[in-house]
Amino acid sequence: MTFLEEVNRRRTFAIISHPDAGKTTLTEKLLLYGGAIHLAGSVKSRKTNKHAVSDWMEIEKQRGISVTSSVLQFDYDGCRVNILDTPGHQDFSEDTYRTLMAADSAVMLIDIAKGVEAQTKKLFAVCKERGIPIFTFVNKLDHFGKSPFDLMEEIENVLGIRAVPMNWPVGINGEYKGIFDREHNTIELFAKDETHGQEKLESQKGSVDDPIFKELIGEELHQALIDDIELLDVAGDAFDFEKVRSGELTPMFFGSAMTNFGVKPFLEKFLELAPSPAPRKALEETVEPTSEDFSSLVFKIQANMNPNHHDRIVFMRICSGKFEKGMTVLHKQSNKSIRLSQPQQFLATERTIVEDAYPGDIIGVFDAGTMGVGDTLCAANHKVTFGDFPVFPPEFFARVSPKDTMKRKQFIKGMTQLAQEGAVQIFEQQLSLDSYVVGAVGMLQFEVLEYRLKNEYGVDLLNHTLPYSVARWVDGDVDPTTLKGLDNAMVVKDNRERTVILISNEWQMGWVQERNPDVTFLTTPKLH
Ligand code: GDP
Repeated sequence: MTFLEEVNRRRTFAIISHPDAGKTTLTEKLLLYGGAIHLAGSVKSRKTNKHAVSDWMEIEKQRGISVTSSVLQFDYDGCRVNILDTPGHQDFSEDTYRTLMAADSAVMLIDIAKGVEAQTKKLFAVCKERGIPIFTFVNKLDHFGKSPFDLMEEIENVLGIRAVPMNWPVGINGEYKGIFDREHNTIELFAKDETHGQEKLESQKGSVDDPIFKELIGEELHQALIDDIELLDVAGDAFDFEKVRSGELTPMFFGSAMTNFGVKPFLEKFLELAPSPAPRKALEETVEPTSEDFSSLVFKIQANMNPNHHDRIVFMRICSGKFEKGMTVLHKQSNKSIRLSQPQQFLATERTIVEDAYPGDIIGVFDAGTMGVGDTLCAANHKVTFGDFPVFPPEFFARVSPKDTMKRKQFIKGMTQLAQEGAVQIFEQQLSLDSYVVGAVGMLQFEVLEYRLKNEYGVDLLNHTLPYSVARWVDGDVDPTTLKGLDNAMVVKDNRERTVILISNEWQMGWVQERNPDVTFLTTPKLH
């Protein structure tokens, strides 16, 4: 296969949904139909709808499992499919947002009974902003739920995107028997699920006009279906590929992940419509996936996947060029050459060493601590810097130090590694060597920090909450001692030695700005 063919057959996407909509189940069924697993139920679910920290600990215990499901890859109909797994809990949304940076499209999963929920809305907004195509899968069709017409309206009203049904449920709400394919005018009736969704489902498919279907579903329901379809044809949006690509229209599918109903038709149509790897903006140029020069974006870092080894895996999405095992690339941010040895790929239930990979693929490599989330790797003779990575301004601050001063070395190591993962941001205050100031986007991150330092580095943490909620980066080369009005603020340095002001609220910050009219204060650091 040529390089171009390899690029074009990639489909890299994430499933976005509110917890409990069925993401784990659908992911598993896609793997079942993709032949990556043979019996559903072999990928353990990571339930995240209980108390957040205990869940995190649970994930922690199952590290091996949560890690192997960071990205799932399988082949189907000539496509190489990469599913990016996003954590389900709201408190980890920062992680989720970052993962979306690695996707070329998203599947928005909606519970037929619940419709568009809070978390769906937030994640949708991120996808919309990135301009990636969004496909909708309405799940739990085996249950009673909202009418498909009402759901279309809800999607439009709540999310501001028009939906175009690619198929339509056949039968009675709560007891749907199959789906109608609008493109081919066919009905597919699914057999009763006898294996609790463990195995693929049998179905019977044919033209909507075939009298057998009238007989199977009854004349009345058949007529109701014909009426619905006529209404859709007349009043609904026509399918428009360009609008889908630009994120203005979402193709809508119906099914039940649990019973496998509608999963295969969804998968096939989705792979047909979903985009292959898209060009990506760098500061220097737009990087085409078909460019033969290698480039990749680090979107996730996980330390201590194996707690006994203190290893650290950097996950990157290949954006252009072919990746080959052992190749040497430039780490743009440090300007260092890095050899990518032992690259890993994560399949459904195992990890394997990859020999080569193409744009759209995700690989994980071991790294001793050079790389951070958002960083770029590229060919030394073709430098690019990806810059659209979201940075979230911290809103909670604390001073942390080890309870036992003898543990200082482990403390520093742990803090440095966890900060590189993007779990927290660390700041240093001059004159204070034994403690750090840490900033986080949510309170939960402090608890996780404490837990992980103890478990992974054996350090008990002293944790003092600081009374600040605003961080501002001082732009340019300003001597911090010349800044005025900082009586109630703290001046710290971030990990790249940039001056940051921590202050209690926006109002006070406004006051500082007034006193220092020539200084620019930024809400997020400049990337480069
Ligand atoms: P996640 O939190 O989005 O990953 O959701 P899960 O896949 O864990 O599913 C949440 C719950 O919904 C589980 O109890 C599933 O068995 C159930 N579920 C998933 N898909 C379906 C479906 O198609 N129909 C029904 N009735 N339940 C489903």
